[in-house]
Amino acid sequence: MRIDVISIFPEYFAPLDVSLMGKARAKGILDVRLHQLREWAHDVHKTVDDTPYGGGPGMVMKPEIWGAAIDDVIGEGSPRLVVPTPSGRPFTQAVALEYAAEPWLLFAPARYEGIDSRVMIEYGSRLRLDEVSIGDYVLAGGEAAVLVMIEAVARLLPGVLGNAVSAVDDSFAPGAMENLLEGPVFTKPPVWRGHEVPEVLLSGHHGKIARWRRDEALRRTLLKRPELIERGELSAADLKAIASFRADGDPVAD
Ligand code: SAM
Repeated sequence: MRIDVISIFPEYFAPLDVSLMGKARAKGILDVRLHQLREWAHDVHKTVDDTPYGGGPGMVMKPEIWGAAIDDVIGEGSPRLVVPTPSGRPFTQAVALEYAAEPWLLFAPARYEGIDSRVMIEYGSRLRLDEVSIGDYVLAGGEAAVLVMIEAVARLLPGVLGNAVSAVDDSFAPGAMENLLEGPVFTKPPVWRGHEVPEVLLSGHHGKIARWRRDEALRRTLLKRPELIERGELSAADLKAIASFRADGDPVAD
């Protein structure tokens, strides 16, 4: 997958040299190209922002500089353009999967009060453009949001995770886990500071272990994100498990 990022802080993306992302790049699975937006600014100060029309605090990023940068980076191509903004569509695992199926993504993280809105109008008519939010809070700039999205997308690409099955069991993974949080996980030793690993996990009984994991995912989701469960489909076994938590007086949501 090719990923281009245009930013006034390309150095912000140094973490993409590390760990899974670094390995994916070294293997050629991920081709990340970073571009300094200021290279398309031609005044002596390399200015990329100006005061907002209508007044008010803060600065707005200039459309002609973004336009020139995007035109040069895309050439005759048509990547999916992703513009991070708190007012965008929520970034979820489903969106990460959608992006992982794309051959080419172009990220346009802003600073200040964002990019002049005409840039989104212009490229919204020429490219597939998504304005995307990584959560209901405001960052100082879009670079951290882009790092989050690249990591969530790239780990889904074939060959990036050591064990491809691990993404299938993740919280929010499409299929059985779509509306569930993953339950607790344990490793050796079997007893640590008096805390024991649940016996079923030591039993070697795959069916019972799978059911236990499912029950724990249900229990955790009911406790921490009950609204997710309402959106999902539950099997008869799931409903029975939930009824038994309630009968046992577990503090799960109604
Ligand atoms: N005034 C803008 C607003 O209220 O929507 C916030 C601008 S913010 C200081 C600067 C940039 O950070 C945004 O243009 C966007 O690129 C990025 N950003 C901030 N919060 C974000 C979020 N929750 N998700 C995605 N990008 C975000």
